[in-house]
Amino acid sequence: MAWPRRARLFAVPEPSTSGRCGCGGVRFELTEPVHEAGYCHCTRCQRRTGTAASAQARIDGTTFRLLAGEDLVTGWRHPDGGFEKCFCRVCGSHLFSRNPDDPAQMSVRMGAFDGDPGVRPTFRAFVDYAAPWEPIPDDGLERFTERKARS
Ligand SMILES: [Zn+2]
Ligand SMILES: [Zn+2]
Repeated sequence: MAWPRRARLFAVPEPSTSGRCGCGGVRFELTEPVHEAGYCHCTRCQRRTGTAASAQARIDGTTFRLLAGEDLVTGWRHPDGGFEKCFCRVCGSHLFSRNPDDPAQMSVRMGAFDGDPGVRPTFRAFVDYAAPWEPIPDDGLERFTERKARS
């Protein structure tokens, strides 16, 4: 039988499904917890983050709700294609990305969540483009030379 939620002996924190930018102008939530996450080592992520890799959660875009700041969200679309990279134009926080041709395909930047989204990165994509100044850690995560196909 299924125990009612409040009957649990140990409190298990609910995964965070909400997030925001640094200035708080943009807020969002997901209607479902996240199930997949990974690191992206592509050069676009290096440029936009100023770091070696970007941790992001893959989500079903239909579960995404923008709660505030629609006018602040700016998208960067690389001339060579790829997902639109959305950030707050006030504070510069990168928040999520989306496939312009398929709204169901989105990713949320892990650092944008308010709390622990529960999921952990399980793969590294675009490792052929990894920054030479930061070796990829020998962490056993599955590696992909280019993008990892969406399941
Ligand atoms: Zn902001
Ligand atoms: Zn990337």
